[in-house]
Amino acid sequence: MRTIDGHLLQVPAEADHPEQWLLQRDDGTLQELDAAAVPDDATPGAQASVTFAGEQAVRASVVAEAQTRTPGPMHAYVVAIDDSTRTDDISLAAAQASTSAMTAYWQREGGGAIESFDTAGATTLSYPGSCEASAWDVWNAAAAKFPGVAWNWSNHLLVYLPAGSGCTFGLGTLGGGYVLVGTTLLSATAHEVGHNLGLNHAWLDDGRTSREYWALYGPMALSINSYLPGKLDAGYRDQLALPDAAAHRQDLTWGSTQTVTITAQGAGTLNAVKVVDPGTGTPWYVEFRSGTGDDAGTYYASSKDAKWDGTYHGAGVHVSTWTSGGLVTHATPVVGTEVWATYRAGEWFVDDEGRVAVQVVSTTTTSATVRITTGGTGDAPRSRWSRTGKAVPALTVTPVTALAGARGRATVQIDDPSVTGGAYGALTVSLDGGTAQTLTPDATGRATWTSSRALAPGTFALAASYAGSASSWPATGSANLVVPAKSVTSVTASAADATYGTQGKVTVRVSAAQGTPSGTVTLWSGSEKVTAKTLTSAGTATLRTPASWGAGTRTLTVKYAGSAGRRASSTTTTLRVVKATPRVTVASTSTTKDAQSTVTVRVTGVGAQPGTGSVTLRIGSATVARDVQLTGSGLTRSVRIPVAKLPAGQILAVYSGNANLRPLTTKSSIVVTGAVARPADGGVPRAA
Ligand SMILES: [Zn+2]
Repeated sequence: MRTIDGHLLQVPAEADHPEQWLLQRDDGTLQELDAAAVPDDATPGAQASVTFAGEQAVRASVVAEAQTRTPGPMHAYVVAIDDSTRTDDISLAAAQASTSAMTAYWQREGGGAIESFDTAGATTLSYPGSCEASAWDVWNAAAAKFPGVAWNWSNHLLVYLPAGSGCTFGLGTLGGGYVLVGTTLLSATAHEVGHNLGLNHAWLDDGRTSREYWALYGPMALSINSYLPGKLDAGYRDQLALPDAAAHRQDLTWGSTQTVTITAQGAGTLNAVKVVDPGTGTPWYVEFRSGTGDDAGTYYASSKDAKWDGTYHGAGVHVSTWTSGGLVTHATPVVGTEVWATYRAGEWFVDDEGRVAVQVVSTTTTSATVRITTGGTGDAPRSRWSRTGKAVPALTVTPVTALAGARGRATVQIDDPSVTGGAYGALTVSLDGGTAQTLTPDATGRATWTSSRALAPGTFALAASYAGSASSWPATGSANLVVPAKSVTSVTASAADATYGTQGKVTVRVSAAQGTPSGTVTLWSGSEKVTAKTLTSAGTATLRTPASWGAGTRTLTVKYAGSAGRRASSTTTTLRVVKATPRVTVASTSTTKDAQSTVTVRVTGVGAQPGTGSVTLRIGSATVARDVQLTGSGLTRSVRIPVAKLPAGQILAVYSGNANLRPLTTKSSIVVTGAVARPADGGVPRAA
């Protein structure tokens, strides 16, 4: 076992070569590393100490992470391979010319940081069988031509292999200065030096698939024929912290809507917009690729409809996110297999989660005015036009708040720019894949859907389908209709004591965790339904009990019937009906002590209750009659009590009460006294 120190370099996977880790030893030579020996989180350029068993790397330990640097002055060292086994060597002159194009490209794109990029050396290396040799063996042999040069961020070793089949097309190290190409194409050399600068491949993501290399704009894409690499994308400019990039970029605040005019890279003062999603830390970039100026020689600018593998790479607004694995260009499927990688006037980009929406307000040949909304404010994809000239409508399905036990509702909005005068095609909506219902949109393309049945709580899939018009494609839209479970309610009730003969009053309130329940409450006494009432907007009701209810205590039940969104509930309360007070009158035929008299007592009842019962008559301290039953019919009952010899004192009638009338002792105003002198005027007798 032995330990060798150096830097970890990565050769990213290319079309004809798998990913490979290398150790750049401190003595300047390269050695291949088994991927299993490299920690998963190792980054290219990291300083490492590698333990070997024989030639086999066992374990690499990172000593210091790679430093992020902004490029400065650079130097190219050119090696043209003279391979005696091949007939397709690239001459040193051709290699030098190729390198000059590459250095000019990176000086141009270096954004004020790559102040110079010269060719510091150029030579030929005899290497028979170079196409079969490993890249690191070739690099080691080529590097030996320039002893003392450290191959890093600043010093790039460009080795030109024979250009024919069977030879590597292009490789470059991440975290070192090594390039191997079997071509003089600028798209290859600029790309491999981009790897040397720490740039990963440009990805194209259309929301369904993500494809490495396929964002055909900047240098980190693949090579197509002899098309030139486009200008360095805004995300890579930011990664390299190029001074010019920051100066020509506007950084937006997340959660805002702003309209900006972006000029193509290299023109105007504002070339890119950056906004960072605080939730994910992902930086978003919006720029305009004009297909003119430095981009004029690119594949995407080659024709109006530059199309590769189903994706159109025309000029337009370009939306990307930077990730450690490379810059991701966000494309949008339009219709069928048609995918657009940029956005034209009137079109939208909205990311899958609706957090970033970019509307292209207008474009010129060199600029675009865009309205950028970030933070998820609900912008939906809008209609656009496909290459065929037919419109691609957008359907927006918006569920209306649903209640359990009620029919579901939703609105459907057709956005079809080909339609004028309301001549929309057929529109249908189905619920959970069931029978489609046909809707009739109004002149603005809006229609309302109502389910054919009441819905139980749950989540239902709404699928809208628009047949398109004569000048537009069909479109679909969908949404989930969520019917929440019925919410729990509770009822409180209280009853004040009622007096027999009057209505009782039960005060009810129905409550729920959210909102105020509506509907009906019913009052029950046992199995007898007493009354019902509709709740007020405050969720209350006052229920009246009959005046005929007899005195006593009743347990009453109050039931809330529930509503579309709310469960039923009930409670009980106690109502006490207290006995009413009767009216008792007393009359006497005489008030003279020891005289004969008839005392008449009348008891008037309340409501339906007559004054039945009995009366005890007292005069002074003497009881002259006990428990004499009242008689008669009607509400007022009476009794005549003969008294042979009136005792002295006040006449009192003690009424016994009955089921609904309370007992009462009436002190009459009649007082029995001695002989009374009747006044001549026949007035009221006076006591002597
Ligand atoms: Zn590459």
